[in-house]
Amino acid sequence: MSAIDQLLASGVRGLQPYQPGKPAEALERELGITNIIKLASNENPHGPSPVVAAAITDVLSGLSRYPDGSGYSLKQALSERLGVGKSQITLGNGSNDVLDLVTRAFVDPGQQVVVAEHAFAVYSLSAKSVNAQLIVVPARDFGHDLDAMAAAVTPSTRVVFVANPNNPTGTYQDSASVEEFLEVLPTTVVTVVDEAYFEYVKDRNYPDGVELLPRFPNLIVVRTFSKAYGLAGLRVGYAMASDQITEALNRVRHPFNVNSLALVAAEAALNDESFVVECVYENQRGLKQLESGFAELDLEWIPSVANFICVRVGANATKIFDSMLRQGVIVRPVANYGLTEHLRISVGLDQENRRALHALKIALRERVST
Ligand SMILES: *Cc1c(COP(=O)(O)O)cnc(C)c1O
Repeated sequence: MSAIDQLLASGVRGLQPYQPGKPAEALERELGITNIIKLASNENPHGPSPVVAAAITDVLSGLSRYPDGSGYSLKQALSERLGVGKSQITLGNGSNDVLDLVTRAFVDPGQQVVVAEHAFAVYSLSAKSVNAQLIVVPARDFGHDLDAMAAAVTPSTRVVFVANPNNPTGTYQDSASVEEFLEVLPTTVVTVVDEAYFEYVKDRNYPDGVELLPRFPNLIVVRTFSKAYGLAGLRVGYAMASDQITEALNRVRHPFNVNSLALVAAEAALNDESFVVECVYENQRGLKQLESGFAELDLEWIPSVANFICVRVGANATKIFDSMLRQGVIVRPVANYGLTEHLRISVGLDQENRRALHALKIALRERVST
């Protein structure tokens, strides 16, 4: 152990940093190739709504001022749109920030945080950073097993994270199972339902967490502007919960955690509803396009309701990933999620999906012939 290692907080000692998708610029530098497509971080391939650029330009001259630390105007807009009180909304520098606020507000070192196998990595990172005891509940058909998660709760459990839908699997929990889950949990537990992909899901049985808030005072629903709203680069997410939970989250929130450009961009994006409708429609098309491509290649996939999909490429997943990289297509290996035979592909534009499928086909062929 190095001298610095000994100084580290115990929760941080064994921590591995979150591994983001490879940026296209990094691959360009490494391989000296251009025309790279990135389908690795579930970003909106259509970019942000065009109204966002105009809204941001309008506030550039005010950048010498601190942002509105209360996010009044964006909260007002969210409140009207979603039917929750402004006092129920916490804004974050991306929803990752909000997830961290929950852990810091509610979890003491040694207390338990329950997550599902294959669940979004930020939950465990956040829990471990405060030296919580992480309980990982085995998945069922790649998705969360909510019965088993409820059974894993003990008097020492403070937070349960449910990704609905989950990243990287794209699986979701239906209304009945989420409601039943919330009903059986003791009042000593705070439940986070992370709906980062909410806007994309069109299945009738998919629950809207906001509708459950009045019935479940320990529920926190988390959403983001990073996905369907196309603002991943600006970092805006938010939590909705009871007034008391929201007040607690605000105690640990950094005073100006959402910057001025992000605040106006999010509000403008929220008001351009037709843009999101269009993106969601295109995403459904893209998912089908990828699925039929996988079927042609005789590959299995995990059915997804989000803007990405995990395809099973076999034990050579790393090599397939590398081959696709060399062909200029960045997808996401998911071995760190316990999915050693899958790759996650974000839904791109029609052309990008086609290129990804072509690169995958070539990669599989190379594998067969070597
Ligand atoms: C992408 C994603 C988020 C969003 O993170 P931001 O910090 O808002 O960009 C949150 N949860 C899950 C499950 C995600 O996949």
